[in-house]
Amino acid sequence: MAFTLPELPYPKTALQPHISPETLDFHYGKHHAGYVKKLNELVAGGKFENAKLEDVVKQAGPGAIFNNAAQIWNHTFYWNSMAPGAGGKPSGELDAAITKAFGSFEAFQKAFADACIGQFGSGWAWLVRKPDGSVAVEKTANAETPLTGANVPLLVCDVWEHAYYIDKRNDRAAYVASWWNLVNWKFAAENFAKAGKATAAAR
Ligand code: MN
Repeated sequence: MAFTLPELPYPKTALQPHISPETLDFHYGKHHAGYVKKLNELVAGGKFENAKLEDVVKQAGPGAIFNNAAQIWNHTFYWNSMAPGAGGKPSGELDAAITKAFGSFEAFQKAFADACIGQFGSGWAWLVRKPDGSVAVEKTANAETPLTGANVPLLVCDVWEHAYYIDKRNDRAAYVASWWNLVNWKFAAENFAKAGKATAAAR
């Protein structure tokens, strides 16, 4: 079975004024779709031809198959990390974990924005849940993803230039400042709760 491009969880007009339909035409319609096309070419006839995407990311090791598979996974996670009319603050257990780790929501926002802006070149900034149940901010380069390690991704911001060049030109900080208005805290809270249950079940 070929790898497929998951549908965007909202219309391309839905993230305005923060992210334009033109950005989504390119970012989703060209870049994300391109990784899917390329991965299908790379795995044809090989051991990953019928594998699950997550397993390809975890097992491929450095190289083109990993890069394209991880970029498919990371982008799908990124689309879900945003929602129209979202933003604001987290609530419940995730809010408590963020306050415990960073001191305040504002301090977390600063740490996350610093990770976004401080990532030299292409990459991603993540909020993750560590195996001990605490949360942390991570940045990864290029296609790298927490999925290959012990931490569970909760939320991601894509800081490749293709994520913001049409709307904000070279101003990554302006993109990140605008991005907070789209953050899907419901998705992050669900990921946090799911990771907690998985940890409890493994004990
Ligand atoms: Mn991207």
